[in-house]
Amino acid sequence: MIEDVELGEDGKIAVPDHVAEAVRTLIEWAGDDPTREGLFDTPKRVARAWKEYCQGYGEDPSAHLSRTFQEVGGYDEIVLLRDIPFQSHCEHHMAPITGKASIAYLPKDRVVGISKLARVLNGFAKRLQVQERLTAEVAQCIWENLHPQGVAVVIEAQHGCMTGRGVRTPGVGMVTSRLLGCFLDDERSRKEVLSLMGY
Ligand SMILES: [Zn+2]
Repeated sequence: MIEDVELGEDGKIAVPDHVAEAVRTLIEWAGDDPTREGLFDTPKRVARAWKEYCQGYGEDPSAHLSRTFQEVGGYDEIVLLRDIPFQSHCEHHMAPITGKASIAYLPKDRVVGISKLARVLNGFAKRLQVQERLTAEVAQCIWENLHPQGVAVVIEAQHGCMTGRGVRTPGVGMVTSRLLGCFLDDERSRKEVLSLMGY
C-alpha cells in the first residue's frame, strides 16, 4: 500500500498530465512512437510503477523499530536475518538494483519482530539509491533505534546499469558492508557474524 498519493476514480493512483508527458518524451527519445497502440497506456503504467518503486519516500523506516520486546529470556546472542531479497534503483541511471541483504544485530536489552528488519531494508531500498548508502542507512537506523551492542549489514547486488549497459558485465555482484559496535571493534564477533552470514 502506497501512502500519500491521490487515487483516481478507477481506484488507481492519479497520474498528472505532465508526468505522463515526461514518459512519452522519454519513449520518443528512446526511438519509439508513443502514440502506437502498444505504448498508449505505457506512460501511466510507468508513472504508477515509479511511485511503487519509490514508496520508501513516503515512510519513516525507523517507525518499524518502535515496538520492541524487552523480555528476551536471557537471549544475548546474534539475531540474523539472512539473504533477504530486495529491489532498489540506482540514483545515477534509475536502473534496477537487485540483490540480497543480510542484517544482524547483537541485542543489549531489546529485540524486534524479525520481519521488521526486512521492512527497514525495504523502506530505504524503495528510493533512488547507491548501494553504499543503502547499506549504511539500514545499519545506522538499527543502531540508533535498538541501541544494540553491534550491527552488521552486508548487501550483495547486481546493478542494471552495469549488466544492461556500459561495460555490460552480467553476473557481477557488488558487495558492501557496514559494521558497527562490537562487530567493528571485536575481531571475534566480526568473524562470527560474517561466517553466520556465509562470508
Ligand atoms: Zn547506475
